[in-house]
Amino acid sequence: MASGVLTYDDFQCIKCGTCCKKQKVVLLTIYDIYRLSEKLKMKPGEFFRKYCTISHKFNSNGLRRFYLKADGGCPFLRDSQCSVQDMKPVVCARNPFYYMEASLAAYKVFGIIEDECRINEYPYDTMVKGDNDRLIDMDILVNATDEYIQKHGRFDEKTAAPYYEKSLEDLKDLDLRAEIYVTLLNQSVQREAMCRTDEYYQGAMNMYLSGFYNEFKKAVKGSNGVYSFEPSALGMIDNIMALVLFEKDFKDVKKALGKQNGADIHTKVTNFEDREYVIVSIEPNGGKKVMFYYHIEPGEKKGLIHEPGEIMIMFKSAKGGSFIFKGRDADGWLSSATT
Ligand code: SF4
Ligand code: SF4
Repeated sequence: MASGVLTYDDFQCIKCGTCCKKQKVVLLTIYDIYRLSEKLKMKPGEFFRKYCTISHKFNSNGLRRFYLKADGGCPFLRDSQCSVQDMKPVVCARNPFYYMEASLAAYKVFGIIEDECRINEYPYDTMVKGDNDRLIDMDILVNATDEYIQKHGRFDEKTAAPYYEKSLEDLKDLDLRAEIYVTLLNQSVQREAMCRTDEYYQGAMNMYLSGFYNEFKKAVKGSNGVYSFEPSALGMIDNIMALVLFEKDFKDVKKALGKQNGADIHTKVTNFEDREYVIVSIEPNGGKKVMFYYHIEPGEKKGLIHEPGEIMIMFKSAKGGSFIFKGRDADGWLSSATT
């Protein structure tokens, strides 16, 4: 698909249900609780007791919020389809568009969209534009719910009812909507700017834009068709781009690639500039050559000559906590990293 601008209305969700299956918790507002309980012909209190929880665990600023209990997948997902589609929570209604404006690379940097999502078919420099009204609705409804939780600390029908009414009024308040529009737009512009200027995010952003990460994942996924993993971090180490995998992931990736019939795998321990490295070279049958350098001690590894298309990643022992990456994608993009 060509890069450019992708709007909420243009996006064709394939309804694979992955974003719902992988959900552990789904944020709920009082508005959602009332609408869903009405749809399911339950009292809001009864709905809350059966399907909801209150927690601060999933919120980076420590605020307690209401969530749908979705451990192991959302309870309203049936045959990969949402069974409450017309009343689904506002947080679901804006998926997978989280910002008013941000590049797809920024989405990837923040790790907020599933790998299986169709949105990944777009180039990473695509500007992704969310549905402003849905995003504003969500902000208004979350704010009203936060206010309620701070005052009452739990859900109960008697005290929540006025907040539901207030939420409905707030949604129609044009001054409030205009104010939130400006705030949300500023937030998304700041996030994008952060990706482009902050050293850490810029490294990750460049990695996505370079296509390296995509190539790497394709190489790994191609090995057995189902394997998927997430890097523990992406970013810059000493001004050099780095893809960080934990040792377990490294082993899983190696194992996944190794399962491919005919894969040519070599492992050897070598010393380079007084440091010890385990070098794993994997060439999937008919696929792109992938090399992993798992190094025992942190340090630099210079002077290696690599062909375009090779991808090399150096890992430090899990005990150390830092890693090294050196890579070149099919387009000849090259980067290296040292701890
Ligand atoms: S409510 Fe519907 S859209 Fe939201 S997570 Fe559950 S199944 Fe998915
Ligand atoms: S993961 Fe993406 S494509 Fe699949 S259902 Fe969710 S939004 Fe749609």
